[in-house]
This record gives sequence, structure tokens and C-alpha cells, in this order.
Amino acid sequence: MLNAEDHLEGLYRGVIMDHYRRPRNRGSLDGPGTVAEGKNPLCGDSVRFEMVVQDGLVEKIVFDGHGCAISISSASMLTELLSGKTVDEARALIGKVADFLKGDGSDVDEEELGDVAALEGVAKFPVRIKCALLPFVAVRDALDG
Ligand code: ZN
Repeated sequence: MLNAEDHLEGLYRGVIMDHYRRPRNRGSLDGPGTVAEGKNPLCGDSVRFEMVVQDGLVEKIVFDGHGCAISISSASMLTELLSGKTVDEARALIGKVADFLKGDGSDVDEEELGDVAALEGVAKFPVRIKCALLPFVAVRDALDG
């Protein structure tokens, strides 16, 4: 028998694997955009984002890359979470995701994080936090730059 928590983790794993197997917004832009790249040599993760940022709005964001299930699903979730947000909203959300993934998300409303909330379990595995955060750190740096 699974207890309630195991069951929940099972559901979360399903969300993560779904994003890994069928990444959302994978590809590249037709034209030039803002590029964000992140690499995690420890795990072999490599992700690249292309964004259309116009008038303070993240109009479109796509990604490509390879790596572990956590990094790829996190990248896929990121594109859904940040697309259509203002740059300020995107920055704020990235900050909340970072807190959440480090297990310091008591103030964070999980609803606001969308599917990213499914990555909650990685907070227990410091090595995996890097994988989950990689896409968000890359995009944050690009938005700041
Ligand atoms: Zn990884």
C-alpha cells in the first residue's frame, strides 16, 4: 500500500516525466531573440532558450537542449510559466521558484508556480536542485543582462 505522501510523489513524478517526454515549446525562433544558455557539467545538462522580449513583456520563449529528466522537464515547465509574463513578473516568479526548489518556499503559493510545483521533491536532493534551477538561473541572467 502506498501512503498518501508516496502517492503524491507518484503523481508529481508523472508530471515531471510528461514534460520530459513531451517537452513544451521546444524548438527555436524564426528570427533573432534574447538567448539564454545554461550548462551543468556535473550532470551533463545543457539548455538553450530563445526569447522574444518586447516592451517589458516575455512574448515568446522556446528552448532546446539535452540533459536529465529534471533539467529538461524544468526547462519545459519554465516556458509555460514565463510565457506572456512581464519581465518583472518573470523575475519575481524565478525568485519564488528558487526559494521553492531550495525548500524555502513556505511563503510561495504553489498555484502560482504551475507545473513547477511538481519539482518540490528535488529540494531533498541537493545535487538535483542544480538541475531544476539551471533553466531558471539561465533565463534570469539573460533577463538581467
Ligand atoms: Zn541534471
